[in-house]
Amino acid sequence: MVIIAILLHNHALFSQASNFTKPKFEIDELGMIPIFTYHKITSQDNLMNRKPSSLLKDLDYLRTNNYYLITVDELYRGYIDAPHGYLPAILSFDDSHVSQFKYLDQNKIDPNSAIGILENYKIKYPKFRVRAIFFVTPCQRGQNELFGQKQWTKKKLIFLLENGYEIGNHSCSHPSFQTTSIDKIQADLYLSQRKIQEFLPKFKYNSLATPYGSYPKRKDWSLLAKSSNRKFTYNHRLIFSYSNRMSLSPFSKNFNLQRVSRLHGFEEALISYREKVQSGEWKPYVSDGNPNTITIPKSRRDELKNPSIQNLILAPNGLDNYSWKLY
Ligand SMILES: [Zn+2]
Repeated sequence: MVIIAILLHNHALFSQASNFTKPKFEIDELGMIPIFTYHKITSQDNLMNRKPSSLLKDLDYLRTNNYYLITVDELYRGYIDAPHGYLPAILSFDDSHVSQFKYLDQNKIDPNSAIGILENYKIKYPKFRVRAIFFVTPCQRGQNELFGQKQWTKKKLIFLLENGYEIGNHSCSHPSFQTTSIDKIQADLYLSQRKIQEFLPKFKYNSLATPYGSYPKRKDWSLLAKSSNRKFTYNHRLIFSYSNRMSLSPFSKNFNLQRVSRLHGFEEALISYREKVQSGEWKPYVSDGNPNTITIPKSRRDELKNPSIQNLILAPNGLDNYSWKLY
């Protein structure tokens, strides 16, 4: 009996020890945020496709590794309400492909489409916050035309907005911004805004993900946010690239509203992401649990965006605790 007890005890110690191999991240609200980018959800796993079972595994990874999904709006506002020790992250889906949101009939969402998977995940794990943004291309035709299935376009767009999802602009016809004149880009962005208003009359995009992550010349970036033509009104508060890097913290002075990095959402890229975070090569944003304070290691004080932040509190754990006042 004694031997068994010792073995059990050792076994318990071992499993406890193996838990410690999980990284224990220090609170750091100047750390980086992963914004994962998916395209089609199909029966394959490759550059532009993710299997339903793989997307499900990705969600399991986020849930079991203390990630907390936030919205693009929250990123913009710097309102990150993740629990203490949790890592904020964003899910994004590009190109409004039917495999992201498909109805089997008018009352049944395909459980293997992205929305089917996300909605079922909410039911299975009610404590895990499900959020995602869909960057749409209203002028693309066929399966990429606002999630295909024309008879249900309006129903789908309303469903997204009513169920905690965001809709962002991904241009109207998906041109490369590198090779298109800035006048044409502005007209295309505006056309996308107008097209979506055919279904959601009052809806305005708040964000843009550039097609292919492409950009015009640096001097024209501001025109992606706001048009120079009074007829072409749109307002993209955040603009996302596709550079396969983590986003900087919105509190970093280097956070660029016009070029926010996103990660690729396919197998190799995701494995590489996890390895870089585990090894400490990429330092994630780790929440202090209070959306109204910014907690950072003392050594990073110079990286803060707003030099006029007030009410500096020196926290006993050696971190500096700032009140939050941005934007
Ligand atoms: Zn795209």
